[in-house]
Amino acid sequence: MADNSIEKSSEIYHPSAEVVANANIPEYEQLYKYSCENREQFWAEQADHLRWYKKWDKVLDDSNKPFYKWFTGANFNIVHNAIDRHLEDATRNKLAIIWESEAGAVRSFSYHALNREVSKFANTLKSMGVKKGEVVTIYMPQVPELVFAMLACAKIGAVHSVVYGGFSYEALAARIEDAHSRVLITADGGFRRGKPIDLKSIANEAMKRSPTIEVCITVRNNGLDVEMESERDFWYHDLQSLPVASNKCDTEVLDSEDPLFILYTSGTTGKPKGMLHTHAGYAVYTSTTHRCLFDVKPEDRWWCAADPGWITGHSYLVYSPLINGATIVMYEGAPNYPYPNRLWQMVEKYGVNLFYTSPTAIRGLMRFGERWPQRHDLSSLRILGSVGEPINPEAWKWYYEVIGDSKCPIIDTWWQTETGGVMIAPLPITPLKPGSCTKPFFGNEVAVVDDEGNEVPAGEEGKLVIKNPWPGMARTIYGDDERYASLYWGDYGDKDYYKAGDSAKIDEDGYVWVIGRMDEVLKVSGYRLGTAEIESALVSHQAVSEAAAIGLPHEVKGNAIHTYAILRDGLIGDKALEQELKEHVAKELGKIAQPEDVQFVESLPKTRSGKIMRRVLRARALGQDEGDLSTLEE
Ligand code: ATP
Ligand code: MG
Repeated sequence: MADNSIEKSSEIYHPSAEVVANANIPEYEQLYKYSCENREQFWAEQADHLRWYKKWDKVLDDSNKPFYKWFTGANFNIVHNAIDRHLEDATRNKLAIIWESEAGAVRSFSYHALNREVSKFANTLKSMGVKKGEVVTIYMPQVPELVFAMLACAKIGAVHSVVYGGFSYEALAARIEDAHSRVLITADGGFRRGKPIDLKSIANEAMKRSPTIEVCITVRNNGLDVEMESERDFWYHDLQSLPVASNKCDTEVLDSEDPLFILYTSGTTGKPKGMLHTHAGYAVYTSTTHRCLFDVKPEDRWWCAADPGWITGHSYLVYSPLINGATIVMYEGAPNYPYPNRLWQMVEKYGVNLFYTSPTAIRGLMRFGERWPQRHDLSSLRILGSVGEPINPEAWKWYYEVIGDSKCPIIDTWWQTETGGVMIAPLPITPLKPGSCTKPFFGNEVAVVDDEGNEVPAGEEGKLVIKNPWPGMARTIYGDDERYASLYWGDYGDKDYYKAGDSAKIDEDGYVWVIGRMDEVLKVSGYRLGTAEIESALVSHQAVSEAAAIGLPHEVKGNAIHTYAILRDGLIGDKALEQELKEHVAKELGKIAQPEDVQFVESLPKTRSGKIMRRVLRARALGQDEGDLSTLEE
């Protein structure tokens, strides 16, 4: 077998000799054991990869559970690590960011240039009176200035709260209010599918409802004519040309536990929660996972195709790749515009080595067939990543075979806004089982438990918990310590387990299979079925590209399964196909899982991060109130 292909044996995919030879971490079991038995020592060793103004007194302070603190007594700033230290060596002249717009415009910034832009932005914020600890809300399209704004806040010790640029004014106003922001950073707008999108007027609507806002800084991007209010509104390019916006700005020396950002969860299950993350632990955790899981090398081009307004964007588009000195690729636009080969064209154009996206994006592109990626030379790709929801084996195989040419390991990463970074995922050397996020990352002990916190036998479904603290964990829900403590901790008496809210199984080999959110497990005639399993079965039929399953009350069965399907390009759904699909699911999972119906739809309600909002489908089917829709994508 050639060196660059992965041996395939009965659904277990082994890494090739080349992947093994190239691995940053050549061995898992021993290091894993060491990291759990010597957790603080392990994290102290990882922290030594970073630059500290003053080292910690204590690695972990667990004196006030569940409000854990990491690296206490240290002085630190994430920007000192993401930019400043790179200016001292050859990384200075390396590209930090390559950005492409939908229309094809390209802007790129070396680390030197990134420092200049961030410093100017930081000085501008200071001139507007922004103080350490104050929360600045950012509402922008995916342009380099969004990254500059985030880093500028961090540099001066302000806390950013990025609100995804596709959200409505109500969603934006609610987040401004929750954070009591005085300053809003926005843009005139962006582009989507060739059309200009007006953000400033949405920001204006939100500000009408936000008495705390005193200053709004607007970045010019799409040139739309926008309404500016004197004394409140400033164009960024006007401020930038003032002498105060000099390109020299000292990075603020902070305490390791000083807050870095607030970010609201996706809202898949209900009202979004404003998770608070801090400087040092988050920096250590995200950069360690990024380095180990993706085999990042200094010469690599890294593309995390997530929006910065989502935790994946914060941790793996902005912070960890910059800390690790990689070159980031960024794209502002639709993944299938003008054609479904857009992403693959960019992989070829920029020679992307590491590519990280979501199952929903993969399924969305799979729909258009292999001919689109096959037009491109994707041989630069070494590692592929997946995040956001369980990846169904069908999409896994397509990603693996068609995009990765059967030589790139698929790093399926399970984690949450709350966890800050990846918690369960394979290393590139880990044998893979499609659909499983495999094993816990170093230092993490993961279990699947029943209601009392007892571990269930291998192969049985239960609640996913993390048994230990880790440096990247959120510190609280902003402004609501009590809700944080009760929502995630304390369900199991004196066992200090973190409750993830997901249901999962661990198989005999210790591989973790995440089934879905706890409230998305259906009890049908006494059996428990994950919506993801039913959806995967539907997607495994060649006619279906995306599917959603929900449970609705049923007199006899307790719950009845109802499903929705998006068909592959060019296919039309009819009664015969519906019957075929129902039987297909029954064949794949057993008669018990056969859906009552399959509705053919053009789209599904999704969050901005691409997760299907099954609670919305359920509410619609029942004619109930749809609940918090602030994160719904049109
Ligand atoms: P909310 O908590 O507001 O309902 P959310 O949980 O969707 O929203 P995120 O923090 O963005 O918000 O998503 C984390 C969730 O995404 C996880 O709890 C899990 O359900 C799912 N998830 C993420 N990655 C994976 C993965 N690789 N495999 C399975 N599920 C995943
Ligand atoms: Mg969640």
